[in-house]
Amino acid sequence: LVNEMKLEFMSKSNNESFGRVVAAAFASQLDPTVEELADIKTAVSEAVTNAIIHGYEDTAGKVEMICRLYDEGIQIIISDKGKGIEDIELARQPLYTSKPDMERSGMGFTVMESFMDSVEIVSEPNMGTTVTMFK
Ligand code: ATP
Ligand code: MG
Repeated sequence: LVNEMKLEFMSKSNNESFGRVVAAAFASQLDPTVEELADIKTAVSEAVTNAIIHGYEDTAGKVEMICRLYDEGIQIIISDKGKGIEDIELARQPLYTSKPDMERSGMGFTVMESFMDSVEIVSEPNMGTTVTMFK
């Protein structure tokens, strides 16, 4: 482990860009390419957005982001204590969304998977969701 940070913020849509910018600033210590940095920002954006709009669908709560730098790359953990995911395999499917009526495309997890080297989802209904990514 080279460096580590932890951030907690309210589930407000303004904080989508806040979380993304903080993760990028921290990741820049690893001297990433412009493309790698863009990938990390996009993945963080998707995970934070999910926590805000799905996790805390009709409530407000805290979103936590932990970033750990290793010689091999960056680990980013984004978690909420919201409503959780009943069927994780289904949620990961491209184009699956539980909110087809809104402007969601169901591509968030697919985007995270394609831009990061690994994406792990742990979730429990009514307990919350933790997404762990590495690049
Ligand atoms: P898009 O990301 O393209 O706007 P989406 O958010 O519906 O659409 P994904 O990000 O792939 O698509 O998520 C798929 C589904 O997984 C969501 O529709 C939602 O039901 C569930 N989900 C994802 N993240 C969470 C979370 N943090 N808490 C509860 N449910 C979640
Ligand atoms: Mg999403």
